[in-house]
Amino acid sequence: MAEIPCASLLRPELGELTAYLPELAEYPVRLDANEAPALLSAGAREQLERAVHDTRWERYPDPTASALRASLAARSGVSPQEVLAGAGSDELITLLLTALSRPRDRTDAAVVLTTTPTFVMYRLAARARGMRVLEVPLDANWDLSLDSMRRGAELAPPNLVFIASPNNPTGNLMARDRLEALITSLPESLVVIDEAYIDYAPGNQLELYQRFENVAILRTLSKIGFASLRVGWLIARAPLVAEIDKLRPPYNLCSLSQRLGALVTSELAGELAALCELVKSERTRVTAELEKLPGFRVTPSQANFLWLRTPGPAGELFAALAARGVLVRSFHQRGGRLAEQLRVTIGAPTENERLLDCLRELT
Ligand code: PMP
Repeated sequence: MAEIPCASLLRPELGELTAYLPELAEYPVRLDANEAPALLSAGAREQLERAVHDTRWERYPDPTASALRASLAARSGVSPQEVLAGAGSDELITLLLTALSRPRDRTDAAVVLTTTPTFVMYRLAARARGMRVLEVPLDANWDLSLDSMRRGAELAPPNLVFIASPNNPTGNLMARDRLEALITSLPESLVVIDEAYIDYAPGNQLELYQRFENVAILRTLSKIGFASLRVGWLIARAPLVAEIDKLRPPYNLCSLSQRLGALVTSELAGELAALCELVKSERTRVTAELEKLPGFRVTPSQANFLWLRTPGPAGELFAALAARGVLVRSFHQRGGRLAEQLRVTIGAPTENERLLDCLRELT
């Protein structure tokens, strides 16, 4: 490999990281990234196009994203002062980590507590900032291991705790009583409940945010039809939002993302809800069909994807599906209990049928 200029000046943690690079090849059926199926109505597309048409191209976007934040706040049932909008929840994860990175007394690095398996960006973004990451394995049902998490937190008190619920890649909500017990046992830590998939779950966890000062919530438009816009939002107490906002790059959300994000969450909210209903009914249907295949088991999902236990090595099935033009997500390189699991996004009915046909042929 070529010499890296100024190598001795780079953060040492970069040596252990690899760039986040999704599969770039073209596949006829992509069920690998938990995006929503392309099922927007013609009317909705027209409304989006009209909004693009009115863009003032020569002007900077609204630096405070006020219309977007107002719409996101109304959708979430909180005030705009409690909302920080970011370029996807990815950006908000990095802002949270940067803001809450002060090492505790007598330690040289702040600690981040999370689960495994879960969304990898918590770990990657924390390591990139030199923070220590404690990953506590989920239990046999992919739920929080409360005792292990509490024990870990006692040994290394975390500044931040990231809990995705529903979790990626397992698709389940974390048990409410465990989540609450974790929150109450860590009053000196900010517990971030990542609700990226909450539109596919029954209810949400906002009530925990309302009751506990040390809770924040993350949400995104990426999983409900608008991954292209890169709009995510953090819900936190207004004074904390104001602090984190000092770190936000100016104009982090372009005019189109602000404008279309506001449109999608106001006038097109009914369209989003209909899309989620369709995905949920497909989720029920696909789960039932998969359960009929010998050796497969599906973890009950409250997200727009399924966590599928395969009868043999997941890596082989992944490759066989890819060879048939169906891309799913495999975690087999990580070994252990992940070696027999695949994550499969719920797509449009025809895409789901294609997946099922391939699996029927392969088993
Ligand atoms: N949180 C979770 C749990 C996710 O699975 C993802 C996307 N894979 C994200 C956050 C990032 O979402 P965004 O597109 O809003 O950055």
